[in-house]
Amino acid sequence: MKYLIILLAFGACNNAPLPTDSPAVASAKEGSPTNPIPTDSIIPAQYVDGKIVKVEKSEDVWKRELNDQEFYVLRKEGTERAFTGDLLDNHDRGIFVCAGCGLPLFASETKFESGTGWPSFYKPISEDCIADKTDSSHGMDRTEVECARCGGHQGHVFPDGPPPTGLRYCINSVSLDFVKQ
Ligand SMILES: [Zn+2]
Repeated sequence: MKYLIILLAFGACNNAPLPTDSPAVASAKEGSPTNPIPTDSIIPAQYVDGKIVKVEKSEDVWKRELNDQEFYVLRKEGTERAFTGDLLDNHDRGIFVCAGCGLPLFASETKFESGTGWPSFYKPISEDCIADKTDSSHGMDRTEVECARCGGHQGHVFPDGPPPTGLRYCINSVSLDFVKQ
C-alpha cells in the first residue's frame, strides 16, 4: 500500500498542471476561441463543382487573426527581407502550408537552394493550390503567386528555375507554415 501511495504521488507530480501564469498556458488561451488560424497544421482543400472552396474574410478579421508581419506579406503583398525568413534553411522533410489558411502549397522535395535569400521551390504541390497573376509593381512585370483558397500573397514565380520545370517559386517564409513529416 505504501508503494501505491508513492507511485500515485509520483504520477500526480509528473502530470501536475502547469502554473496558470506559464507561457504555455497563456498561449493556449490566446490560441483557442479568438484565433482560429491554424498554425503548422494541414487543412486540405475542399472542392465544389471542381472548384476550390475559398476562404474569404474582411481585412479587419485578417488583421486580428494574423500577426503584423503575416498581415503585411499575406494581405498587403509585402516581401520579407532577404535572408531573414525562418524557413530559408529548413531542410526537413514535410509540407509547407499557407500561413493564412493551412492549404498545402509546397513539398520539401521540391525546395532548392536558389541563393536569393527566400525559400525557393520548383513546383507547387498542385496547380489547383496556386493562383498566378501579373504584378506590374516596382517597374517590373512579374508573376505573383497567391494561395488559391484565401488569396494570401506568397511571392513570385520566375522562369529561371532548375529542371524538371524550369520554374522558381520565390516564396516568403512569413507566408508559410511548415508541417514536419
Ligand atoms: Zn491560404
